[in-house]
Amino acid sequence: MSPIGLTGGIGSGKSAVAQALVGCGAVLVDTDAIARALTAPGGAALPAIAQAFGARMLDADGALDRSRMREQVFADGAAKARLEAILHPMIGTEADRQAAAAGERTVVYDVPLLAPVSRWRRLAARIVVVDCSEDTQCRRVMQRSGWSEATVRSVIAQQLPRATRRAMADAVIHNDGISLETLADTVRRLWALWNNPARHVQP
Ligand code: ADP
Repeated sequence: MSPIGLTGGIGSGKSAVAQALVGCGAVLVDTDAIARALTAPGGAALPAIAQAFGARMLDADGALDRSRMREQVFADGAAKARLEAILHPMIGTEADRQAAAAGERTVVYDVPLLAPVSRWRRLAARIVVVDCSEDTQCRRVMQRSGWSEATVRSVIAQQLPRATRRAMADAVIHNDGISLETLADTVRRLWALWNNPARHVQP
């Protein structure tokens, strides 16, 4: 099957859907994980980041100091653009490498901030959006990560609006008021449908 783009706001259940897709046989290209690897100790993006922002952006282990960087890009749009100019091409290159290694298997690009006009949108033949209410997002992330409600809401405010995400979806998975098992089952049914497109048009 052609590549799938997977997106959803924080706490929507996107990672749970990604795992269910892997269970169906998809190969996951997790752009967040790639970004983390690029900025972990010894990560390939660190020299350019240190050059652009100063060595003070690295922590004692030599990894990117995430909270310091978050503070800086939160306050300064130009800094955000500079960081993205370093990271995005490297993420793209690594994603291409992983996708090429997938061979015939279906690639799922897991992209938290999948924008309507972006390399990911162009690569993906279909988009799956995992959706739930903002209150549910808050509840899940507060429980999962121990963040305050205000922190979760400020992250949500920085992500794409729900309506924008849903407008580009070929399938919206409503992950509200259902169990994780029902969620996985929904993913399996979508996978089956997209893998057997002819079964609904037989006379
Ligand atoms: P995301 O990747 O979108 O941030 P996750 O898939 O990590 O979200 O889900 C956030 C948290 O909510 C996780 O702890 C996950 O297990 C839980 N969760 C997601 N969907 C459900 C659900 N339908 N029922 C119960 N817990 C859920």
